[in-house]
Amino acid sequence: MTIKLYNTRTRSKEDFDPIDRDDVRMYVCGPTVYDRAHLGNARPVVVFDVLYRLLRHTYGADHVTYVRNFTDVDDKINKRAAESGREIGEITAETTQWFLDDMAALGALEPDHMPRATQYIPQMITMIGDLIEKGFAYSVRTESNDPPEEYVIADREALLGEHALFEVERFERYGELSGQSTDEMIAGARGETAPGKRSPMDFVLWKPSTPDLPGWDSPWGRGRPGWHIECSAMSKALLGDTFDIHGGGRDLMFPHHENEIAQSCCANGTDEMARYWMHNEMLQVEGKKMSKSLGNFFTVRDLLEGNWSGGWKVPGEVIRFVLLSTHYRKPMDWTEKKAGDARRTLQKWYDLTDGVEPDPQGWWAIRNPLQNDLDTSGALQKMHELARDDIRLPSRLPELRYAMEWMGFPFEAGNTPPKHFRRYSSSSENEGYTVNLSWTGTMESKDQQRLSELGHRLFNTRRVAIETKDFTEVDLIKSTLDDAGVEVRVSKDKVELEPGPGFDPSKLESLK
Ligand SMILES: [Zn+2]
Repeated sequence: MTIKLYNTRTRSKEDFDPIDRDDVRMYVCGPTVYDRAHLGNARPVVVFDVLYRLLRHTYGADHVTYVRNFTDVDDKINKRAAESGREIGEITAETTQWFLDDMAALGALEPDHMPRATQYIPQMITMIGDLIEKGFAYSVRTESNDPPEEYVIADREALLGEHALFEVERFERYGELSGQSTDEMIAGARGETAPGKRSPMDFVLWKPSTPDLPGWDSPWGRGRPGWHIECSAMSKALLGDTFDIHGGGRDLMFPHHENEIAQSCCANGTDEMARYWMHNEMLQVEGKKMSKSLGNFFTVRDLLEGNWSGGWKVPGEVIRFVLLSTHYRKPMDWTEKKAGDARRTLQKWYDLTDGVEPDPQGWWAIRNPLQNDLDTSGALQKMHELARDDIRLPSRLPELRYAMEWMGFPFEAGNTPPKHFRRYSSSSENEGYTVNLSWTGTMESKDQQRLSELGHRLFNTRRVAIETKDFTEVDLIKSTLDDAGVEVRVSKDKVELEPGPGFDPSKLESLK
């Protein structure tokens, strides 16, 4: 069976047939680096990471090239620099590293190439020059004494240079990918102002920079590229005029991807930029659009560090699991419940497969769903089946272990689960009873000590309460532990305490 992928361009699921089986090529639009990646930014990274793994598995790791760019020249970055008083280069370098760290925490493999837009300015200038020469683009000089009204850049010095614009009318197939009407496209293109546009749909290839903004010398004066040209120039440089797969979030379909196609096909004289266009759907939080104004906005780092409504530190593996539990073409809803369920499932799988040798037969369990338009939720379903313990059948845990590694849920050197899922325990004995403490992941030793002390106090208070029939303090200790996220079990010779993932030691402070 071959891989089937849904192609936005043809609106159908197609057999994937690479241009060159020895060099399968994929380009995915990457982030603009001025801030931490939010959860929505992580979705394409994780989705296309699984596709990358599937292509490497199918064609061989040395026969796949995956490119994902960093947009490090953009007005949002310039704005952030102006507001913060920091250097642009400092902001982009810092944000790029944040992105790499956060995506590594989600188990995403690094692409083969991660070009920065600023490294490909000469290639962009060449491509824009080609487009003008071939009649698909034009440049407009605006005299500083005659600024058109719609031109809103505050600093009028900008008008001393030239804009280069792509003339959309010259490219017949414009709009085919997104399937939008001309009216819709005009409305969508409205955000981008530039003087001297022949049509409102024409888009910026190059724009002049004021002295305080990043700029490069070009045939149109000192300026900087429009957003779209970088992907056309970088994919051409690294993958060639036509390549296999182009991916990104659904929000990039128009205008970004339409513009990329127009630029690349017209400059390269090709019929297609990429054969298969893949778009992941958007992300919501508890059924609502994620937005700063709704207070449900969080970054990947917020989740990793516990700064979100759930309040607990979400391991990267759990974020990955939740992202993959919905098919990439469906809207994805992040909920606290899903995160908790994913945490428990992964803990169970890691417990079951701790020290188990992986069996490559596990591939056959997840193969069908993955080859069927990257049905990652179907693959996770199959893994649930492998985890089902049926003593009448041979164990399928070695297959589960293989499938986990394949899907990007790692094990560490020495065959053990990663740190957030490793189990630890300690116990201390006293006159005929024991206090057992067990937990997963990391816990500070002062918290271990505090819990152990409370375990002893609980046992002794209870021993006295059985005589006096006054259980007030016993109940107080139990309910405080419960509030702090600690499971408590008490028997006649034992106290067992198990802090969960949401364990909050600060809530124990009320117990003096
Ligand atoms: Zn792009």
